[in-house]
Amino acid sequence: MPQRFFSTRSPDRFVDVKEAVLRSLPADNGLYMPESMDELGEDFWENWRGMSLPEIGVHVARAVFKDSIPEEELEKIVHESANFPAPLVSVKEKEHVLELFHGPTLAFKDFGARFMARLMAWLTRDDEGMLTVLVATSGDTGGAVASAFHGVPGTRVVILYPKGKVSGLQEKQLTTLGENITALEVDGTFDDCQRLVKSAFLKREMSEKLNLTSANSINISRLVPQSFYYFEAAKNLPEGVRPTFVIPSGNFGNLTAGLLAEKLGLQIERFVAATNRNDVVPEYLREGEYKPRPSVATISNAMDVGAPSNFARMENIFGNQWEAMKSRVAGFAYGDEVTRETIRRIYQETEYVLEPHGAVGWLAAEAWREDHPDAHTVVLETAHPSKFLDVMEEELGEGEIEVPERLACLAEREKVAIPMGIDEQLFHEWLENMA
Ligand SMILES: *Cc1c(COP(=O)(O)O)cnc(C)c1O
Repeated sequence: MPQRFFSTRSPDRFVDVKEAVLRSLPADNGLYMPESMDELGEDFWENWRGMSLPEIGVHVARAVFKDSIPEEELEKIVHESANFPAPLVSVKEKEHVLELFHGPTLAFKDFGARFMARLMAWLTRDDEGMLTVLVATSGDTGGAVASAFHGVPGTRVVILYPKGKVSGLQEKQLTTLGENITALEVDGTFDDCQRLVKSAFLKREMSEKLNLTSANSINISRLVPQSFYYFEAAKNLPEGVRPTFVIPSGNFGNLTAGLLAEKLGLQIERFVAATNRNDVVPEYLREGEYKPRPSVATISNAMDVGAPSNFARMENIFGNQWEAMKSRVAGFAYGDEVTRETIRRIYQETEYVLEPHGAVGWLAAEAWREDHPDAHTVVLETAHPSKFLDVMEEELGEGEIEVPERLACLAEREKVAIPMGIDEQLFHEWLENMA
């Protein structure tokens, strides 16, 4: 049977995989969830510890997409997208870090973006015309999406980023690929970029003519491949050990992917949500009231989110019961000063380099261990330290952080971006002319 997807706002209306993935967001503003998620079968559990990351991924993806995608296609998509490692590093006894930054853009978002790009290309293989992916970015997402779609046949990507508000190397990640990737340098804020993207989708005629789709983090196809590495981490712990996953969180996609892994039968001791000062979810877990608010800027800026987009999925998974969520997910929040101090302290103690997002996670893991000294904690390290070079050099000194070649080499490449104002009409005209 093919999988069906429902919106968290209308659980009795279903769409197929193509609609869920290409539409990304249901018309009622809910989020798509798979109708059924059964635990993986005996054939999996007998062998999973001997499987590679993509082999595990094929089983997980099949459990979510079922017959919606032919077996050999799904295999190909998983093997081509999860084609870099996710090593589990023991920094101290029973204190682990899961390094998710070994992909092409050095961020965990590569897992989701690469899978989504290939799935979208397959879903639209017989459609006329190009699929046009619109994405607004404040930094990391645009780079991962651009790299993932680069050279994928039948697709093109238009990235909108706020002029002067992304880091130098981040900008190069968006503006140096060329071919089917176009960068628009918007003379405004990230919110302007998002508004322009939304306005294009609202123009139904144009949206259909251009085959517009969105690559934002609420897309269900970005979530599924993020479940793979929870299994990968667990498999590398001693048999019988149930990991406590500590997840530096912004929109809570990563944490939601962990909850999906648990639904598929993975034995997990507990989830620990770690945030910076944008602590809407830890506060909810403590007080039972969900109070989204404007975000504040921090040094772990990929987690500067005031209204986490995946919260609706977390609620759905726990049947809208606060007590139920609270019993599985703990929450901790930290400010910039203690985060900086942790980067220095852990480097001095262990020589391990945590970047700001991972350091927030480390703090939460330490807090959890105070009451649970026997826990085996796994902190998800979501980006490579060189992506946050300014902060890292302030704490550890200049020249201490190695910049991997694939990021360093971008410095010499020439930036190509099209200047764009914040006027919706002019943006729409530009889009139509590119068709
Ligand atoms: C996107 C991002 C996060 C937040 O992940 P969510 O799934 O949105 O919670 C954390 N760290 C880094 C480096 C990121 O790029």
